[in-house]
Amino acid sequence: MNRKVPGASQFAALIASVKQCRLCEESLPLGPRPVLQIDPRARILIAGQAPGRRVHESGVPFDDPSGDRLREWLGITREVFYDPTKVAILPMGFCYPGTGKSGDLPPRPECEPAWRHQLLQHLREIRLTLVIGQYAQKSHLSPSKKNLTETVRSWKDYGNGLIPLPHPSPRNNIWLKKNPWFNESLLPHLRKAVHDALDM
Ligand code: SF4
Repeated sequence: MNRKVPGASQFAALIASVKQCRLCEESLPLGPRPVLQIDPRARILIAGQAPGRRVHESGVPFDDPSGDRLREWLGITREVFYDPTKVAILPMGFCYPGTGKSGDLPPRPECEPAWRHQLLQHLREIRLTLVIGQYAQKSHLSPSKKNLTETVRSWKDYGNGLIPLPHPSPRNNIWLKKNPWFNESLLPHLRKAVHDALDM
């Protein structure tokens, strides 16, 4: 059966619609500002959580200490990271959702059914998906494990094309200290997988 491949004009129209989205505006403390990076040629998909306040202000995904750590984990420069023909960055919610008592609020649930499913259909060259944090893991990984630590610790279960990761936020420094296997065994595998996916 021939499945219809979405075309370039459809893609451009979709991106224009996303950029103008105001669907959950009433729930967003700083208003809508979708932050994502996408090109149909991308080979790596970063499925993250939602922009933080600083990223909302700059409009650049992972333009913060979390991004610095993520680039270090991946072993790639900012230049490579911000090349949309190499890396697509699609958080679960595209706009900053606000902050609660224990950090940023969950990504807005409206975003995934409204936009994310459609956008993913245009990513046909993806070789590696990095699934960051509990919200993306609930959506991308099945069956999910008991919690984030178990999911990440079971990275070998997901095969070559998918790697679950904790959020690279400085808030997770304690988690990283408690789980030394992450640096010792997962990171070397991650860097190799990233470089292989990009033919570096
Ligand atoms: S979070 Fe998603 S659904 Fe809500 S306004 Fe932003 S782009 Fe639209």
